[in-house]
Amino acid sequence: MSASNMRVFIAGHRGMVGSALLRQLENQENLTIVTTTRAELDLTNQHAVNAFFAAQQIDQVYLAAAKVGGIHANNTYPADFIYQNLMIEANIIEAAHQNDVQKLLFLGSSCIYPKFAEQPMNEDALLTGILEPTNEPYAIAKIAGIKLCESYNRQYGRDYRSVMPTNLYGPEDNFHPDNSHVIPGLMRRFHEAKVSNAPEVVIWGSGKPLREFLHVDDMAAASIHVMNLDQALYQNHTTPMLSHINVGSGVDCSISELAQTIAKVTGYQGSLVFDATKPDGSPRKLMDSSKLWSLDWQPNYDLERGLAHTYEWFKANALTLRMA
Ligand code: GDP
Repeated sequence: MSASNMRVFIAGHRGMVGSALLRQLENQENLTIVTTTRAELDLTNQHAVNAFFAAQQIDQVYLAAAKVGGIHANNTYPADFIYQNLMIEANIIEAAHQNDVQKLLFLGSSCIYPKFAEQPMNEDALLTGILEPTNEPYAIAKIAGIKLCESYNRQYGRDYRSVMPTNLYGPEDNFHPDNSHVIPGLMRRFHEAKVSNAPEVVIWGSGKPLREFLHVDDMAAASIHVMNLDQALYQNHTTPMLSHINVGSGVDCSISELAQTIAKVTGYQGSLVFDATKPDGSPRKLMDSSKLWSLDWQPNYDLERGLAHTYEWFKANALTLRMA
């Protein structure tokens, strides 16, 4: 196969990470990007996924398709989160292997690490303690994805890698008022409070949990970087038999500080109120991304600039926001 006819499948190209990958990969020479919509292909249907791979002659897969959501959605729809994610991963990874796709990149999540893992969390913290209960079913599915990659590597000599992003945000995020993650949830609430001159904005929980955030364009760049790393170099930097590597900004802040920064970016000047009846989730989630940094990757956006960029996108797309 020459480089000129490499066919790259982005599974989940309409999601936040998949669309960022598409924006960055579609201008690269020597690549043909393959995508498919949910209406055309149900990724939870094993038979349909097998038929798709058999027809498409794919060389590389970015597995960015997933059912995702914030703390409330994970807590409310646990069966959907574990079932859909297990099916999507298992179907795509097995079909990729059956159709001789040698390289695949699986997108995971920092919630795979134990609730009380030592901070910052490095890759070896996987499976060393109990998980955060609010998103345990989702985390178990993502851990299964990592183990699928490792198992196909061990048994069949595949080169399937996994990247574990910290909390992501950016264009094409889900801005649903209840089911979203904290940044899109609060950005929308602050924006609407500003427009309606509301005197206060409610923040869920105590405001004390610490979270690390990464702009999705940085995540897409990191994913492409990891996919294209020389195999020996990648294996030297990941723990033997492990296939995953962390992707984070290395900086965390409290939810209260985050809310103040979103207030600044949106220009909201009212007060912030904390609703202690809502769950806090993990006390802290900061990843150790030093392995990836030692492999020559660094994020571009700091939080305030990334939020400002996202707010511009939000305002420009307010009428067509994705809300699942
Ligand atoms: P998590 O990192 O899995 O806990 O996911 P989230 O992004 O949903 O929540 C992060 C933290 O932000 C939690 O402590 C939430 O309680 C808090 N938070 C505050 N306001 C909001 C909000 O409007 N939406 C969400 N999703 N979380 C919020």
